[in-house]
Amino acid sequence: MIEVKDLLSQPIKILKNVGDAREKGLQSLGIFTLRDVLYYFPRRYEDRHVVTLDSTELYGTYAVRLKVASKLSSANIKGLPMVKFSAIEMKFDEFGVLTDNHGNNSRVDMVYFHSDYVKNIFKLGNVYIFYGKITGNLAKYEMVNPKFIPHQTGIETDRYYPIYRKNKTVTQNIIIKAVDSVLKLIAGKEDELETLPEQIRNKYNLCGIGFALTAMHKPKTENDLESAKKRLIFEEFFLYSFALEMIKSRREYIPGYIYKNKTDMNGFYSILPFKLTNAQQRSIDDTLADMQKDKPMSRLIQGDVGSGKTMIAAAAAYFACKNGTQAVMMAPTDILATQHYEGLSELFSKVGIKVCLLTGSLKTKQKRETLSAIENGGVDFIIGTHAVIQKSVNFKNLSLSITDEQHRFGVNQRALISGSAGNQTAPHTLVMSATPIPRTLALIMYGDLDVSVVNELPPGRQKVDTFAVNNSFRERIYKFTRKLINEGGQAFIVCPLVGEDEDDEDDTPVLDTNVMSNMKSVKSYYKELSEMIYSDIPMGFVHGKMKSEDKDNIMEQFKDGDIKILVSTVVIEVGVNIPNAVLMIIENAERFGLSQLHQLRGRVGRGDKKSYCILFSDNENETSKKRLDIMCKTNDGFEIAKKDIEIRGPGDLFGEKQSGSVTFKIANLATDTDILYIAAQAAKEFAGTISTADENDLYGQKLKQSAMRMFESDGDRKIAFN
Ligand code: ADP
Ligand code: MG
Repeated sequence: MIEVKDLLSQPIKILKNVGDAREKGLQSLGIFTLRDVLYYFPRRYEDRHVVTLDSTELYGTYAVRLKVASKLSSANIKGLPMVKFSAIEMKFDEFGVLTDNHGNNSRVDMVYFHSDYVKNIFKLGNVYIFYGKITGNLAKYEMVNPKFIPHQTGIETDRYYPIYRKNKTVTQNIIIKAVDSVLKLIAGKEDELETLPEQIRNKYNLCGIGFALTAMHKPKTENDLESAKKRLIFEEFFLYSFALEMIKSRREYIPGYIYKNKTDMNGFYSILPFKLTNAQQRSIDDTLADMQKDKPMSRLIQGDVGSGKTMIAAAAAYFACKNGTQAVMMAPTDILATQHYEGLSELFSKVGIKVCLLTGSLKTKQKRETLSAIENGGVDFIIGTHAVIQKSVNFKNLSLSITDEQHRFGVNQRALISGSAGNQTAPHTLVMSATPIPRTLALIMYGDLDVSVVNELPPGRQKVDTFAVNNSFRERIYKFTRKLINEGGQAFIVCPLVGEDEDDEDDTPVLDTNVMSNMKSVKSYYKELSEMIYSDIPMGFVHGKMKSEDKDNIMEQFKDGDIKILVSTVVIEVGVNIPNAVLMIIENAERFGLSQLHQLRGRVGRGDKKSYCILFSDNENETSKKRLDIMCKTNDGFEIAKKDIEIRGPGDLFGEKQSGSVTFKIANLATDTDILYIAAQAAKEFAGTISTADENDLYGQKLKQSAMRMFESDGDRKIAFN
């Protein structure tokens, strides 16, 4: 007898009615196994229970019971083929017999466009349940292309008819049938699927998994639906938090690197060109204290753009290197890695710490030399991109790994970098992120990390004045740009696309890929501007699809002030520091997430000159206007993130490309925070009880499996469980 959980791992192909084409179609909806079918929840429900016409309102959508009361007629209106007939409402009389309703307004004009086939279906005198919008006018109702099923005595239509996301090959009906067959397969065996321990279900008043799954697909009442949702949301958050607890406790088994000396940090502080802010000092203290414990540090430094996180990383690296060990720092882009390298190698040259740069774009010979220096201890501090976590990199004695702009990497990469230590202890890990996540969210997304918040900007920073404008301002902005450049400033212009090709996106910044018209592209806008508008001003462009050599070359020229206007995609989003840049113009601003806009804006206002940010958008959509308005009103990244989440949910905050981030199927981080708190707490408590329980603990094992499954679907995050 096959166990239910194995059964659910079977491919959808084993279902009746699922052949090659449907399999492909279902797969493109993310449905591969029977479990996926079960967890493919409706997007919404339609109330299809039959109402009487006199209880309806014009333009509402209803299910009504009507009889075909006239012959069908075909017509052609402006080339649109249509079928028309008249229908009369049917109601039950006092004896329960279905009869014509001869009252007022009981006739409906039925119209079907582009649906010649209905001529062969509707027969005079037959009764159907029609579902659709009531149009026409109060004197005479009309329904256009309503859905329909034949009326059957004794069978009621659903109050909660599930509507699933579908595609060209997979219709609603196919999904409904597939769900039905899987529900049948598990009927009576739901207990085997239970993931939440009974004591937790009881304590938090949660329904069983079988009930929840059935109720999601076929709820009978609003209450059923609510309790099903609550349970599943709880489960998702619970499993996620539980998984993080497991990562955390596993980490506690491995000792962290223990430093022999308590490095005198004055050597570091004395080479800094500025006084640290209190927030920077606090974060450094947190970090150094962690590094002197016997378990490996896992700390997140969260600070708004420009809050000076690099120096916190530098302090930690100083501590590690002065202890005769190596530190590594990974940045998401070549540009950023190079910038860190330039700044920090200069700083550290004063104190005899050897810094090297390791990126994918190194020449073979250079790369070989760098790798061997890393291996034989010829360098102390390694700064680079993903290149630093390749297998070919063997550290001599790595004790600290730093990840900059953590939101760009997944947890899997974080785990990888800490895994490549080459010794018996785990390196301390420090991750830095400028994605301002509200505390509630940080608690769960980074539940395995300790967090320091850098909630203070270095003194003298100016507010970047921000304006949301439409195309009618273009001439004025051209003039304004010219003025700022004449005064010695430099400008960024950010576009959503690389080239004219609609798929030509860089790092998928845009929100809705369906509507691509009127989007500015780096290549063509650069051409237009450099030829027509600013032919006398040195300009350049960069995008993610260029060779990194070329990219670096242009960035270098921009940094040196040889290029005055830089047209780019979001490649410049993270970290780039050009104090002379005073103007950030963002085209099609509505296409970017607010936090992303905030990051982009953070590229200016880094020097002592007054800086500006212009958000171009012709989008008249209210939500979109509201969002850009927030940008104009505040410069506080945390505030912006909070508002963005309120308006649109947190998906965008983390960026689509973030590997290793978990997508919740049913839970919403923005709106389900109450459950989130409770579930995270419950997971913590529960993890505490099972870590001491014996290995055969059934629920412990099951939970581990479910938690792992949650991460499996997101690439290799599962390595965290090895
Ligand atoms: P983040 O990475 O947090 O966005 P950076 O570390 O790149 O910020 O710092 C932004 C700029 O602020 C850099 O030019 C840096 O030299 C400068 N900076 C950092 N800390 C201070 C400070 N305490 N006082 C003055 N300037 C600072
Ligand atoms: Mg930074």
